[in-house]
Amino acid sequence: MQKKIKKDTGVLAEFIYIYCSEKHRQRDKKKLSVKGNVGDYLDDFRGVLCEECSHLLIHGTAKRIICPHEPKPSCRHCTTQCYRDGYRERIREVMRFSGMHLIKKGRLGLLKKYFF
Ligand code: SF4
Ligand SMILES: [Zn+2]
Repeated sequence: MQKKIKKDTGVLAEFIYIYCSEKHRQRDKKKLSVKGNVGDYLDDFRGVLCEECSHLLIHGTAKRIICPHEPKPSCRHCTTQCYRDGYRERIREVMRFSGMHLIKKGRLGLLKKYFF
């Protein structure tokens, strides 16, 4: 397991978790259950997510693992744009919302690790 990828997927999970906690309060939520490589990278994540956000996190993690760029640019500025249609717009919305949320809460440490 690569440390850099692990760090990025941890930040991704945290941002999606914040979004889901705030925006999808009414939805049914579950712990992630993912096997294989993606599951290994998300092993530390203890939060619960709705189905839609779980899929987004799994998709984003899978894309991060196979990202061909080294060093990796921020996804926002990447020319490859590997996210599937629909997921790309959703992850932008998540990062925008959760980024603002962290600023309001003064949690700038996590924001500094923000990689999108
Ligand atoms: S959008 Fe670009 S930088 Fe982001 S994971 Fe995909 S290929 Fe890598
Ligand atoms: Zn959600």
